[in-house]
Amino acid sequence: MSANQNRCPFLEVDLDKLRENLEELIEHCHDSSVEIAGVVKGATALPEVVRVFANSGVRFVATSRVDQLRIIRQMGIQKPLMLIRIPMLSELEDVVALSDVSLQSDLTVIRALNAEAQRQGKLHQVMLMIDLGDLREGFWDAEELVSAAVEIETSLKNLQLIGVGVNLSCYGSIKPNTRNMQGLVSLASDVEKAIGRPLEYVSGGASTSVHMVLNGTMPYRVNLLRLGEIVLTGGIYGCYPDFTHKDVFTLKAEVVECRDKPSFPVGELTVDAFGKIPHYEDRGIRRRALVAIGRVDYGDFTSITPRMAGIKILGASSDHTILDVEDVKDRIKVGDILEFNVSYAALVYLTNTQSVQIVCRGEDLV
Ligand SMILES: *Cc1c(COP(=O)(O)O)cnc(C)c1O
Repeated sequence: MSANQNRCPFLEVDLDKLRENLEELIEHCHDSSVEIAGVVKGATALPEVVRVFANSGVRFVATSRVDQLRIIRQMGIQKPLMLIRIPMLSELEDVVALSDVSLQSDLTVIRALNAEAQRQGKLHQVMLMIDLGDLREGFWDAEELVSAAVEIETSLKNLQLIGVGVNLSCYGSIKPNTRNMQGLVSLASDVEKAIGRPLEYVSGGASTSVHMVLNGTMPYRVNLLRLGEIVLTGGIYGCYPDFTHKDVFTLKAEVVECRDKPSFPVGELTVDAFGKIPHYEDRGIRRRALVAIGRVDYGDFTSITPRMAGIKILGASSDHTILDVEDVKDRIKVGDILEFNVSYAALVYLTNTQSVQIVCRGEDLV
């Protein structure tokens, strides 16, 4: 296997599949007049991944952190860059220098942002976030929202209000539906009346809003989604379109031990390496394999899934993942490299650690 030339563990990225996911999602969204901000934070703004996003038909390249924006800028990306975490007061210099548009929800920050944009001689674009129940960022009070919009429009000369947006599902697990999307549209129209012009963008959320575009229930006025997870992993809870690849990313880890052992720990039970009391099922003697990757690399073991049928993850410590391979025991030995599917939750860790090598394939490897 040629893959053996790479140092394990590694994360393989199929850039062609990523590009196809982007193309398909962009096309389906464009059919409903919805543009996309392509969110690259899930892959820690990996340059090869950023390049695929930037070369696609997304309107913006977006991420949550200014250190990632700096990397993207240094790559010479021409697409407008969007900062999607409402910024710290202490990072506004970078926000203005590195992004073209940012999401905002606090007037103190907005005023300071205007002063910084003035200092840098720039016109910085902002979108005001509205909280419609998820209880993360956003204006809660409609009047406060409208008066912030009016202040930006009339007094903050170095800011340009380009739209309003909402974030759902992330903290409060609130599902995007016609009710909250209509609420967003109606608040957008309040803002438009107050400032006396239409807004360029009404942003109806993230990957969890895509199902409404696909089933035709997204209100027409919503014209921007900020998409990361569904592009990178091909789906999101409740929405796995048949036109996306679910295997853009493959985790490969090496077997370092494989032998028969009891399935119930032997001795006096206390807590595991992370202070938890796990449950162990006694299934007698079974073949177990250890692979050299652990929770430090991917977070929670439920966020990776073995590709080979018959393998089950029993648990993990910081540096080891323990597999039950009894049902496939003739096919597994020390030194083998096993493949795993990776969920978004694992991806954010795997792309963030020096211990996991990233190997990109396809897309002429720019
Ligand atoms: C992370 C994030 C997104 C993208 O979310 P996905 O679920 O990856 O599509 C969009 N908007 C904001 C504000 C975010 O923080």
